[in-house]
Amino acid sequence: MPDQSHVTPLDRDFREYLFQRYQEHGRKYRCPDMTQQTFEDWQSQARLKLAETLRMPDVLGSPEFVREKIDPDNQPWSAGQCDGAFHLERVQYQSMPGVRVPGYLLVPEGLQEPAPAILCPPGHGKGMNQVVFEAGIYNHYACELARRGFVVLVPEHIGFGERKPSHFGEHGYYTGVAQLMGYTMYGVYIKELMRALDILTSLEEVDADRIGCYGLSLGGVTTLLISALDLRIRTVCISGFLTSFKSTFMDVAHCVCGNVQDLALNFEHVDIAALIAPRPLVVESGRADSGFPVDAARSTVQDLTAYYALYNQTDRLAHDIFDGSHEISGRIAFDWFDKWMK
Ligand SMILES: [Zn+2]
Repeated sequence: MPDQSHVTPLDRDFREYLFQRYQEHGRKYRCPDMTQQTFEDWQSQARLKLAETLRMPDVLGSPEFVREKIDPDNQPWSAGQCDGAFHLERVQYQSMPGVRVPGYLLVPEGLQEPAPAILCPPGHGKGMNQVVFEAGIYNHYACELARRGFVVLVPEHIGFGERKPSHFGEHGYYTGVAQLMGYTMYGVYIKELMRALDILTSLEEVDADRIGCYGLSLGGVTTLLISALDLRIRTVCISGFLTSFKSTFMDVAHCVCGNVQDLALNFEHVDIAALIAPRPLVVESGRADSGFPVDAARSTVQDLTAYYALYNQTDRLAHDIFDGSHEISGRIAFDWFDKWMK
């Protein structure tokens, strides 16, 4: 049970009731102790259960992909970030039938052969423009990856940035309506990211066998989920998310868009992350990230080590615990993608 010093007695009743339910019924599909063979059998079953729990839309439309090079001098960004090392494109493609997804594509200049690529889903903020153009919590990480020779796709999540609901203001509107219609927003995000992977792997500039994913916060959980479910992703960095449901959404108030029916009854973060093993994974945790406590992150990464040990590949798992808050670090991750993808 977490610290409840801030909880009033009557409020405590239902919290304790829910935590008791977690203790007795949570993690139904947890990864048990196992051999490599039984681990892979568990992964196959757990991926099906996770996909079912996310309640994704069934069908994607045709890609209808368009791309257009844009002039960095006429964009609200620092020219120094471009530095001639890559160029920037606006892209658009179709996810679910009739649903258009905007995004930015960062393409290194002078590519002689297909390059590795990294999908960078934005966090719970101002969307893809913030990821590409602002320093802040993203630290220009998409630009840094492009500068290092990776093709980078930054798609816009539904409900944020340029896809913010214009009529009701906040993305919580979509959370409610999606649930009324039998979907969860995580499920919708992941279905759209599967289409983003279709786009990335189809580009002539990209080597489809070298695809990574790196995101912060909401981008961290979407990175976790898409990497768990879609084996096209080969190298992963989850920033500012991987801890546990118990220490985050169950303990303190987070946005309702993260509430997926039954998810914590079926899995903990560690179980979902075990679906990434033994693919290379680095986890970023800021010591001052109060929403995603570093102690819970440390414990989860420690538990994950056992799955990489099944393959004698614990060198494929790293934890960057840094002096920072809810933000991209890159201290290990940038070299990590270089090491495993080049
Ligand atoms: Zn939200």
